[in-house]
Amino acid sequence: MIASAEQIAGIGFTSQRTRTRMVKRLKECGIRNEQLLEVMAAVPRHLFVDEAISTRAYDDVALPIGEGQTISQPFAVARMTEILLEDGPIERVLEVGTGSGYQAAVLSQLVEAVFTVERIRTLLDRARRRFRALQYRNIHTRYSDGGWGWSGHGPYDGIMVTAAPESIPEPLLEQLAIGGRMIVPVGEQGGTQSLTIITRTHQGFSRRQEHDVNFVPFLSGKS
Ligand code: SAH
Repeated sequence: MIASAEQIAGIGFTSQRTRTRMVKRLKECGIRNEQLLEVMAAVPRHLFVDEAISTRAYDDVALPIGEGQTISQPFAVARMTEILLEDGPIERVLEVGTGSGYQAAVLSQLVEAVFTVERIRTLLDRARRRFRALQYRNIHTRYSDGGWGWSGHGPYDGIMVTAAPESIPEPLLEQLAIGGRMIVPVGEQGGTQSLTIITRTHQGFSRRQEHDVNFVPFLSGKS
């Protein structure tokens, strides 16, 4: 079913005013990419969580989406997207960890095509329904362990991992285009992780670390 204009617009705690306030906060926290801020003012985050908690959708917190997983907090989505686009526009992005689908929806408005992989069937099915209802046609989904990447559509100009592995899976490095960039929270399970940025050059891979973050663990296999 396609979402109605009223559902997308929201009311009260899910209204455009609330979305605009979220974006103002993101700016105050240092997010500078204007196009990204416009996109986050438009994507209806309240439709990516359960209706029962939708009034909290625009608070700057991670929220439960079922199966022990969370939708990332708006600041994490904004900062990771901003870093991915730091060197200018990119075309093809692989996301590992579809979850609610919100991060993929934001990306889809900023790049040509998003390929997103999720290992939990029920979450992926829900996200797919949202993409259809909101008519995001450049998002492609796959039910799989994202540790293998999605080789058929690579190499990717950008790879974003939204769950935290202890070390970066080799296939993801292989599927990164020369000149491409990967963002991944790396760290031991149960601890904090460092947001790590990998850039691929003709010579190999360079690595830098940003701030510490707190993501759900990257798990192998499907569920
Ligand atoms: N980007 C999501 C964040 C969801 S939380 C959003 O915007 O809502 C991270 C997600 O990564 C979870 O749904 C979890 O099931 C998924 N995940 C963890 N390990 C994975 C793996 N190896 N392959 C694919 N998805 C994985």
